[in-house]
Amino acid sequence: MERLTILGATGSIGQSTLGVVRRHPARFSVFALTASRQVDRMLADCLEFGPRYAVMADEQAACELRRRLAELGSSTQVLSGPAALCEVAAEPEVGCVMAAIVGAAGLLPTLAAVRAGKRVLLANKEALVMSGELFIEAVHRHGARLLPVDSEHNAIFQCLPAELQQTPGRGSLREAGIGKILLTGSGGPFRYTPLAELAAVTPAQAVAHPNWSMGPKISVDSATMMNKGLEYIEARWLFNAPPEQLEVLVHPQSVIHSMVQYSDGSVLAQLGQPDMMTPIAHALGWPERISSGVAPLDFCRLGELTFMAPDMARYPCLRLAIEACAAGQGATTALNAANEEAVAAFLAGGLDYMGIAAVNETVVQNLGLTRVGSLDDILALDDQARRSATEIIRRR
Ligand code: NAD
Ligand code: MG
Repeated sequence: MERLTILGATGSIGQSTLGVVRRHPARFSVFALTASRQVDRMLADCLEFGPRYAVMADEQAACELRRRLAELGSSTQVLSGPAALCEVAAEPEVGCVMAAIVGAAGLLPTLAAVRAGKRVLLANKEALVMSGELFIEAVHRHGARLLPVDSEHNAIFQCLPAELQQTPGRGSLREAGIGKILLTGSGGPFRYTPLAELAAVTPAQAVAHPNWSMGPKISVDSATMMNKGLEYIEARWLFNAPPEQLEVLVHPQSVIHSMVQYSDGSVLAQLGQPDMMTPIAHALGWPERISSGVAPLDFCRLGELTFMAPDMARYPCLRLAIEACAAGQGATTALNAANEEAVAAFLAGGLDYMGIAAVNETVVQNLGLTRVGSLDDILALDDQARRSATEIIRRR
């Protein structure tokens, strides 16, 4: 029986993880579930999965959950605050941690799991974007097992030779005969929208992704293709990939989830339905295969698969991320923080769609050359970039 902590259990990835876990009651048990403040969802999942701990980042939400669970006779203990998130991620009895908090808030709990040498299923790409080298170093120093959940990185992982799967972020792609990693993305809901109309798009239009159902932040990131930019940086660290071995391809149908091109001309791809239960089941079961509940692909109904190069005029956030990746950790940390603030402001109606890229660009221009060596440096820069972004948004 593998004991799991699910960080971000009430979110889109957290719920899909519970969906896979539900199918395998003899294989997995839930040790802890965590969330920010969604009491109703958490209550229902605690009653179904009976975890030892439920952690709410928000104190008031924790009080309400504690009271309601006690009324129902549940033995789940409710904890609160950021320190408790790290504790349930590092607890000795836990074997595997699903890191599915959205944004920078996931960095410390995910790192706590890594430092405790857990099997870490990484959905929280922002954690790796913020801390890159330091994160990968911690994986190796503490003997953690890192399995990518992001569908593209999970697809790439599946197409890699076994020895590279064993050494995340360390092996040489060239020595393994790999020419390029081809990172695919749908291009989001505004792929065909005339550029002049982009200024007026609303949050509701931006979160309506044509193929995937996801949380609000990553849905906006998919529209701007910042998501592909963050994934480019994520791939740089997970696969030790230099820029000349990373290519982004727009593939509107989201059937191929990414590919690896070998020096003999072979291209290995992973295909599937656009359903996160497939990569989640892969990471939960690896190196075995377990059922996910996802329907098999029906090739006769797929129709055409098409590909094109991304248009950087349409997706300035993708360009910014690729440039930031080349510039270094200060630039990627600042970009990630600015983007979180800009997307939150856009979703709240306080920033126009084109403003997201503009805010990101200005913050990276101002702070992107900041030198960051330690985790404290990274957290300080994250904070500074957020304050700078908030100020720019206020003035716009
Ligand atoms: P979501 O918004 O649906 O869920 C986020 C979860 O994090 C919730 O449980 C929420 O309570 C928790 N959370 C939010 N802020 C918190 C805080 N300050 N402290 C503690 N917990 C907090 O997000 P999602 O779509 O499930 O995405 C989660 C992560 O997985 C993101 O990093 C995203 O980029 C990545 N990811 C998601 C998908 C997808 O299909 N949804 C695919 C690939 C990668
Ligand atoms: Mg992805």
